[in-house]
Amino acid sequence: MNKGDLSKLPAVEKTMHALGDVGLPRPLVLATVRDAIATLRETPESIPDFDTFIATMRQDLAALQRTQMTPVINGTGVLIHTNLGRSPLPESAAERLVSIASNYSNLELDLNTGERGRRGGYLERCLALVSGADAATPVNNCASALVLILRHLVRDGRGEVIISRGQLVEIGGGFRIPDILLASGATLREIGTTNKTTLADYENAIGASTALILKVHQSNFYIGGFVENPATADLAALAKRQGVPFCEDLGSGAVVNTEDFGPVEHEPTPAEILAAGVDLVCFSGDKLLGGPQAGIIAGRADLVAAIKKEPFYRALRCDKLILSALEAVTSAYLEGRHDVPLLTMLSTPLEALRARGQAIVEQLADLPIAATLGESESRIGGGTMPKSAIPSLTLDLKPQSMSVGKLARRLRFGAPPVVGYTADGSHRIDLRTVFPRQDQALTKAIHAAHDKG
Ligand SMILES: *Cc1c(COP(=O)(O)O)cnc(C)c1O
Repeated sequence: MNKGDLSKLPAVEKTMHALGDVGLPRPLVLATVRDAIATLRETPESIPDFDTFIATMRQDLAALQRTQMTPVINGTGVLIHTNLGRSPLPESAAERLVSIASNYSNLELDLNTGERGRRGGYLERCLALVSGADAATPVNNCASALVLILRHLVRDGRGEVIISRGQLVEIGGGFRIPDILLASGATLREIGTTNKTTLADYENAIGASTALILKVHQSNFYIGGFVENPATADLAALAKRQGVPFCEDLGSGAVVNTEDFGPVEHEPTPAEILAAGVDLVCFSGDKLLGGPQAGIIAGRADLVAAIKKEPFYRALRCDKLILSALEAVTSAYLEGRHDVPLLTMLSTPLEALRARGQAIVEQLADLPIAATLGESESRIGGGTMPKSAIPSLTLDLKPQSMSVGKLARRLRFGAPPVVGYTADGSHRIDLRTVFPRQDQALTKAIHAAHDKG
C-alpha cells in the first residue's frame, strides 16, 4: 500500500460541505460518503481527484434517491405490473386509507356498545358477499392465505395433499406450489400427468391420510391440446362423498365477469368456484380485485372460523390501513360502482385512447422528436390471464437529438418517472395504463427529457 496515495483520500467534512444539500437525510448522505471513502482506502491506487470524487458521489446519491418509493407513470401496457406495485387503488379507497391512517379509529371498538369490537367484522361480511361465500377473512397476501389453509387442514397422520401434476406450478418470485406445500408440513400426493388428470386419479388417491384436495388455478400459463381435468363440480361431489376438504387457490380472484369489461376471457370468480361445491378458495386482493395487497380466504363458515383461531393467523393478519382500503374497494363492488382503476383501464375504448394520444402528440410538435400513435396490445399481467391481449394504443417516440435508449433513461429519471418499452426503434408508451389525469404530466416529462443538456 502506498502512503502517498492515502494522503489524497477525500476528507468526510470537506466532502459533505462540497455536496451541499442533495435532498437526502444528512445521516444517509454521511453514511454513503463514509462507505465510499472506506472503499477508496482499500484501493488507494484508484483515488480520484476531489472534483471527480464529488461528481461520482452526486451520481451515487441521485441513484440512491431513485430507489425511494415514488409514483411512476406506467406506460408498459401491463395493467397489473408486479414491478410497478400491481393494482393502483381507487381514489375513494386511498382517501379512506389516509383518513384511517392519520386518525384514531374504531378498529377494535364496537361503537354500538362501547365494548371491544371485532376487527374487520364489517369488511368480512362484505368480502363474503362479493365472494359468494358463507364467510371470508383477509390476510397478508394470497400466499399466506394458502399457507394458513394448509396448516389448518394438514394434521399428524392426515398430512397428504392431493394435487394434479398439472398444477404443481411456480406462481412467480420463487413462489412454487410444491415448496409451499412442503413448508406447510404437507406431504405431496401427486396424481395424473402434466396434461391429463382424471376423476378416477383423485378417487384412487383419497385415503385415511388425505388432508385435502388442492386445486391451483393455472393463472399465469396455459396448456392446450390433449388436456383433461375433471370439472370442479364433479371433483367437489367426490370430495363431499369421501368427507375430504376441497380447496382452490384461485390467485387472481376477479369478482366480476372480466369479459364484460374488455376483450378478455372469462376468469373464474370465487362465487362460481364456491357454488360448484369447493369448500374454500383463496385469492389476492391486489390482482383482478384491484384492491390493496391482501389474501382473501372465503368459503365454509366453520373452516374460516377455525382458520382464524390458528396461532399463525395472528401473524399473517392485515393491518388497519389495508383493512380500510379493502373495505372501501369491497363496498364499491357491492354498490355496483366499478371504479377500480384496473377495470376502468380495461374497459377504456380505443377511441378514447386515440383522442388523448392525439392531444399529446400535438403538444410535442415543438420538440425534435417524431411522435406518432401506434397500435399495440396491453396485457393484464401480474401472473394472471396469460392469454390476454387487449388492443391498445401507444405514443411512439423517435427522438432526433438523442438515442431511443437515452430518451428512455431520461424519462425513467424524470419527475415523475415514466416507464415505457422500446420496440421497433421507438420508445413506446401504452396509453391504456396511463391515467388520463397523468396526460399533462406525461407531456411535461417528455419536454423535460429534451430540456436537459
Ligand atoms: C398470484 C398468485 C398467488 C400469490 O398471491 P400473492 O397475493 O402474491 O401472495 C398464489 N396463487 C396463485 C394461483 C396466484 O395466481
